[in-house]
Amino acid sequence: MVKLNPFEVVQKQLDKCAEILKLDPDIRAILGVPMRELHVSLPIRMDDGSIKVFQGYRVQYNDARGPMKGGIRFHPDETIDTVRALAAWMTWKCSLLDLPLGGAKGGVVCNPTKMSQGELERLSRAYIQGVRQFIGPDKDIPAPDVYTNPKIMAWMADEYSKIVGKSQFGVITGKPPCLGGSAGRSDATARGGLYTVREAAKECNINLKEATVAIQGYGNAGYNAALLCKTLLGCKIVAVSDSKGGIFSKEGLQPEAVREHKAKTGSVINFPGAKLISNEELLELEVDILFPAALENVITDKNASNIKAKIVAELANGPTIPEADDILCKNGVHVIPDFLCNAGGVTCSYFEMVQNFYMYYWDEKEIHERLDKRMSFAYHSVLNTSKKYNINMRQAAYVIAVERVVEAMKLRGWV
Ligand code: GLU
Repeated sequence: MVKLNPFEVVQKQLDKCAEILKLDPDIRAILGVPMRELHVSLPIRMDDGSIKVFQGYRVQYNDARGPMKGGIRFHPDETIDTVRALAAWMTWKCSLLDLPLGGAKGGVVCNPTKMSQGELERLSRAYIQGVRQFIGPDKDIPAPDVYTNPKIMAWMADEYSKIVGKSQFGVITGKPPCLGGSAGRSDATARGGLYTVREAAKECNINLKEATVAIQGYGNAGYNAALLCKTLLGCKIVAVSDSKGGIFSKEGLQPEAVREHKAKTGSVINFPGAKLISNEELLELEVDILFPAALENVITDKNASNIKAKIVAELANGPTIPEADDILCKNGVHVIPDFLCNAGGVTCSYFEMVQNFYMYYWDEKEIHERLDKRMSFAYHSVLNTSKKYNINMRQAAYVIAVERVVEAMKLRGWV
């Protein structure tokens, strides 16, 4: 993977947006930095009796539009600049979907694949202890991200509840349903993305029943995208991958069977009957729809001109660098930018917050309808803005999101 600083990518994207909107340089300066960030050292007793100190972060980027919102990532390559970038994208994401929320992100530098459940639980609880003064159901509400899941959210909600002396599950979203989690949250990121793909297919004249799909990444977003592409949209999944490599099958892959294989062997590779390919090859396949659904910086100026997909649906955060954006645009690739395409997760998290405050829960059908409405509306707003100002889809998403944040800042008298 190309080592690029994602926060520099954010700055470049923001500069472009500032140019289009002719933003006041003072406002541009405020938008380019997080409002607050917390660094915590977390000493954890490991199973072998030793103590290991983990670094954790919470970056609160901007709360002009409401309480801070954003997930917590557990990853060995986590850096403060990655968390800053992800927190900025959360700010634009919540704004674009018109959620009454600001943006934040958390991160812990660790490798969950090499930790026991007990070690992970102690780390999750220690993280909440570390950031306790900065979070709260109407202040800053974390959620899952890469390598964190509902089980971890349950430990975190429990730890926070112990601190405040009452069951206050609304401090976190993405919880298991029996602890105040929302119906439909587990596949909401992928499902939301598919609603935007469905709308994009109309725009690009693609018949989804005959469309082929490649998915980079087979975690929560990637797996559910594969499953829903097949069951909801009727597409053929010809390739998927994970950090160890990829697989290709002209006849199409069965998403559940691939997941079982990954659960058993630790990877999608060596799936019976499929051809082994690299992650790089997967991105350049001749398919109708490509989902980058893993990490940042995978579509760069080196490979962008080789991308043959008609639609690039960015389920990952930050998969495309600005130089690659220009190339994709020139080649007529329809990009559904990350903070639009993957906004289904936080949108359902927002529904979860509303239900937690209400103490009343909607069923899955209700969640799917509300999610579809918000995602489709956001997609068409971005598409219309892109056509109106003759700018690409990412720039259009930025224009809408940043304008709303700036309006809130002005109304609050910050600028
Ligand atoms: N981690 C997800 C994201 O990047 C979800 C955040 C949330 O639900 O708050 O959008």
